[in-house]
Amino acid sequence: MSIEDIGCCGAYCGTCPVIRAGACRGCKTGYRSGERDISRARCRIKICCIRKGYQSCADCTDYESCGTIQEFHHRNGYKYKKYREAIVFIIGNGYDRFLKITDGWKNQVGPY
Ligand code: SF4
Ligand code: SF4
Repeated sequence: MSIEDIGCCGAYCGTCPVIRAGACRGCKTGYRSGERDISRARCRIKICCIRKGYQSCADCTDYESCGTIQEFHHRNGYKYKKYREAIVFIIGNGYDRFLKITDGWKNQVGPY
């Protein structure tokens, strides 16, 4: 479990077998080191977070007023609600507590 496995939007990639097999670098890994080029990324949430030096939108003081993340987090579908729950949890409790909880998860979202 690593903070690198937390997607900028709150999706948790640390449980994914593809990442564990080393076949995917997930949302964030490689941008800070220069191995990946953020100008080639397509996700607006990720582009914004990485350019601002954040680990996720939980670090952003504009989270509640940001149309980009709020539109994403309020889409129809269970996973979007859970991504929002993850970011709100991290804002209130920090990354370490979030990562401890994800220890028991089987998917990119899970119970608290
Ligand atoms: S939707 Fe964007 S921010 Fe969320 S995990 Fe995927 S690339 Fe990262
Ligand atoms: S909340 Fe919005 S402005 Fe803040 S880092 Fe995320 S996408 Fe960017």
